[in-house]
Formats: sequence, structure tokens, C-alpha cells
Amino acid sequence: MSNQATPDRFISPKQQSEDKRLAGVLRPQRLLEFTGQEKLKTNLAILIEAAQGRQEPLDHILFHGPPGLGKTTLAHVVANEMNVNIRITAGPAIERAGDLAAILTNMRAGDILFIDEVHRLGRAVEEILYPAMEDFVLDIIVGKGPGAKNVRLKLPRFTVIGATTRLALLTAPLRARFGAAYRMDFYEQAAIEQIVLRGASIFDVPVATDGASEIARRARGTPRVALRLLRRVRDYAQVRAEGQIDVETAVAALNLLEIDNLGLDDLDRRVLRAIIEKFGGGPVGLDTIAASISEEPDTIMDVVEPYLLQLGFLERTARGRVATPHAYKHLGLTAVSAPNTPPIQPGLFSPSSPDEA
Ligand code: ADP
Repeated sequence: MSNQATPDRFISPKQQSEDKRLAGVLRPQRLLEFTGQEKLKTNLAILIEAAQGRQEPLDHILFHGPPGLGKTTLAHVVANEMNVNIRITAGPAIERAGDLAAILTNMRAGDILFIDEVHRLGRAVEEILYPAMEDFVLDIIVGKGPGAKNVRLKLPRFTVIGATTRLALLTAPLRARFGAAYRMDFYEQAAIEQIVLRGASIFDVPVATDGASEIARRARGTPRVALRLLRRVRDYAQVRAEGQIDVETAVAALNLLEIDNLGLDDLDRRVLRAIIEKFGGGPVGLDTIAASISEEPDTIMDVVEPYLLQLGFLERTARGRVATPHAYKHLGLTAVSAPNTPPIQPGLFSPSSPDEA
């Protein structure tokens, strides 16, 4: 793979066009079909049943966590369980306050407004959203100049479901308006295996249990990655292995994609290598790492870092990112202390907030 930015990396949990096309087919529709995230599902089921029991719309809900874990899917599931309409939008898509006003005035009682990347709403838009979420009113200004008047419109009781990969970037007043906030974590291997098997049956491709396990093992606990790897392994199997996915086929296909046995790809390795080889193992700031490998800091923060942190390959410290001995071992490198750089001692610095930039 090249040393340039790689927006289409196979392993990226960010949505690509093929994912979008297949989303409708692959998405579990009901809570019972949704694999994994057991605690979250229990909490959601209670929230839904309680709202239904009171015949009230749901409280506003916030899902946060790395991309590709099922935030959008869950929003659809909630809409299905509540038997209401869902309208999909995203923070950057609502450019002006008027755009949001137009959406809100078209909502019906109980409807769900799903706002992806809710941390990227503009200030003026947020100002409109606060009273809409809290009191179900829309404050608009009618007319111009000295004759302009403030008008307050009543809105039906609707539900906002927000999703974000960056909880820390959400403004405090917006965060406070979500009655329920749930963190989504990487999935267990068994759950990802189930998701691969379910995907295989939807694609109608024969997959052996060991083949599914191998794909799951390299999917970095992320359903979107698992389903994408499944599609690439399916291609390989079709061309080289008469369509059957067994462990040998899966290993061969995934190796060819340069996805290693822990699910790390070229970009993950470049990040780790940069920290180790260019910055003596760290601590080094995220922007410096990004610049040194010509990648976007956002991509590293959203896509690369959460999984490396989860593996214990990376630590976030007050002074920057530090590669741990596990990372050296995985890459087959030995630690060499750079001049003026203290040897790597994980835990030496107090870790900063996980959402800090
Ligand atoms: P996010 O909104 O968190 O980025 P999505 O909801 O778009 O993630 O999910 C990414 C993909 O993974 C979708 O194709 C979805 O169908 C699939 N997916 C997510 N969670 C699950 C799950 N628990 N079971 C099965 N498929 C899932």
C-alpha cells in the first residue's frame, strides 16, 4: 500500500459507498436481531417499554463511541420498536437555523430525528435545538429590521437520537438535553462471529465456523469492519476457492489485504511505527503523528486510536501518545531510548480523558 492518505482502507470503520448500498439489507430491524451490546440493549428495552406503557414519546437518546459499532442501526431499531417514523440527518448537513426549523416543523408526534455527528452542529443551529428538545417549541424571527418579531411555534413531542464519536466535543447544554446517553464499546469476538454468520447467510455465501471466527478475529470488534472483510473474503473465495469460506481461505484473503492477526492494517502500523521510529516511542502529539505520515488527525483519532488503546498498544498521556511494549512486540521492534527521551514506562504519566484531542 502507498504511503499516502488511505481513505478507502478496507478496515476503516467509516462508512464507504458499498456499505451505504448494503446498509438496508444488513441492518438488524429489531432489538432481538441486534447482536451484542447486551447491557445497552437491556437499558434500551426498558426505556422503550416504559415510554410505551405511558404512551409517551421516548426521551432524547445519545449514542457515543467509535464509528461502525451500530449507532445508526440502533436508531432505526428504536424507531421500529416504537413504530414511529425516523428522519435521518447529520450535524454538518444542517447548515443554517432555517434548515433545522424546516425539519422540525415537519415532525409528527413521536417521530424520531436522528442526528449523526451531533457534535458538529453549528452554534446557531444548537440554539434552535435547545428549546425544541426541552420545551418542544421553535423560536423564530419573522420579518426584518425594526418590524421583526419573535414568534414561538409549538412543536409536536418528538425524539432526538444523537450519535457521536466525540463525546468531549459535545457542548454541555446539548449533552444535558439527552435524557439517556449510552456508550457503545467494541464487540466481543463471539458477537462479531454471529454478525459475520448472519451477514454470510444474507449474502448467501457458505462459511465454515472457523472461517467466520478468523474474519471476526481481525475485525477489531467492529460490525462494519466485520461485514466489509466478509465481502472481501467472499470475493477471494469466489475467485480462488469455489465460493467456500473456510479458515484457510479467510487467512489467505485477509493476509492479501495486509490485515494482520489482530486486525491491524497498514494505517495502524504506520501510526505505531511513526511513534516508535520517528519519535522514540513518544510521548508525541496527535497532530505531529498525523503530519509525519500525511494523514488527517481526525482519522487517526476516530478510526485508529480507539482500537490501539483497546489493545493496550497505545497510551494517552498528558504529554502525548506513547507506544507501549506490546506495540513494540507486535511489530517485532525493540525499544531504543532516543536521546533526551525517557524510556517507555506505561503509566508514568497520568492518562488524560479518553475523548481529549
Ligand atoms: P455507526 O452508526 O455506529 O457508525 P452503523 O449503525 O452504521 O454504525 O453500523 C455499521 C454496519 O454494521 C451496518 O451495516 C450495520 O448493519 C452493521 N451492524 C452494526 N451493529 C450490528 C449488530 N449489532 N448486529 C448486526 N449488524 C450490525
